[in-house]
Amino acid sequence: MAIKVGIPRALLYYAYSPLWVTYFKELDAEVMISSKTNKKILDEGISTTVDEACIPIKLFHGHVMDLKDGVDVLFIPRITSIYFQEYICPKFCGLPEMIQHSIEGLPPLITTEINFFKSQESVKNTIYEIGSFFTKDKKKMMKAFQRAKEVYESYRRQLQKGEIPSLGVPFHMYRANSGGHPLRKKEIMVMGHPYNLYDSYLNMDLFSILVSRNSQILTPEMIKRSVTDSFMKDYKTKFYWSFANRLIGAMLYLIEQGTIDGIIYISTFGCGVDSVVADIIEKTIREKSDIPFLLLTIDEHRGEAGFYTRVEAFMDMLEWRVKDENYVSPYGQPVHPSKSCF
Ligand code: SF4
Repeated sequence: MAIKVGIPRALLYYAYSPLWVTYFKELDAEVMISSKTNKKILDEGISTTVDEACIPIKLFHGHVMDLKDGVDVLFIPRITSIYFQEYICPKFCGLPEMIQHSIEGLPPLITTEINFFKSQESVKNTIYEIGSFFTKDKKKMMKAFQRAKEVYESYRRQLQKGEIPSLGVPFHMYRANSGGHPLRKKEIMVMGHPYNLYDSYLNMDLFSILVSRNSQILTPEMIKRSVTDSFMKDYKTKFYWSFANRLIGAMLYLIEQGTIDGIIYISTFGCGVDSVVADIIEKTIREKSDIPFLLLTIDEHRGEAGFYTRVEAFMDMLEWRVKDENYVSPYGQPVHPSKSCF
């Protein structure tokens, strides 16, 4: 009988699920993904996690609760570093221990360390260690990994074309057409960690609101990493955090392009990385460009009314900006929208 492996639909699931799912399936495992985030998952995550943790970590706990009784083994790797000389947030390194000490009645965990800080030489050992839960055949593991890499590369290409396959919606949904709208489509960059952008429960379905307001959405994953890396080469600081380099590189690229209509940054309360990165991004955008910027911070109380009001007001402001950009008041210059309170 196939071994059932559970993957929580949280954190880097949104970046790497095609790789992991394909690898396990090629090893004849049965893959189970936790349900889409919902109130029960959030509540269970909040009640099982230490108070100080950020919401994405709490949600991860909720997704483990959702899966743990129906699988033979849970995949909770210790992700330390994905790129050369860059680290992921420290909370990822301690995640297996956090889960083990917070949740009772767990099945065995696959907690293999993924650490490419010094080199990618450990990839083979990582593949073998994870694969050993399902087979002893190393050739089969390598073949499975090759196939997983192909699927993952194709997923990345889709993202770079502006498609968001992980959301399980037709790819073109986020390429809204104007539908006879009197104003041209607005191009909005939505920035943040992938698990904040692509979990529509967590971000209160922000993408749908933007699409309903005649917007075309861009996310950092749609910009090639080679492009963001090239912008970071000339930047005054190289950060240790992969997330920081990616987001700041994307912001510098957008400023140079000068074609984006607005940038929305989704941050979560309690995120140490965001408290630095969002601030740098906001200050740089205001100093070097007139791109309207909105910072949305999500917390576990999900204050929907305030969230929607801010998004709607931001979108109104962008529409006025397009509609009235050639308007010159007989009483003097209008206040430039970029000087507004957003
Ligand atoms: S980067 Fe921020 S949101 Fe992500 S796990 Fe770390 S603290 Fe939480």
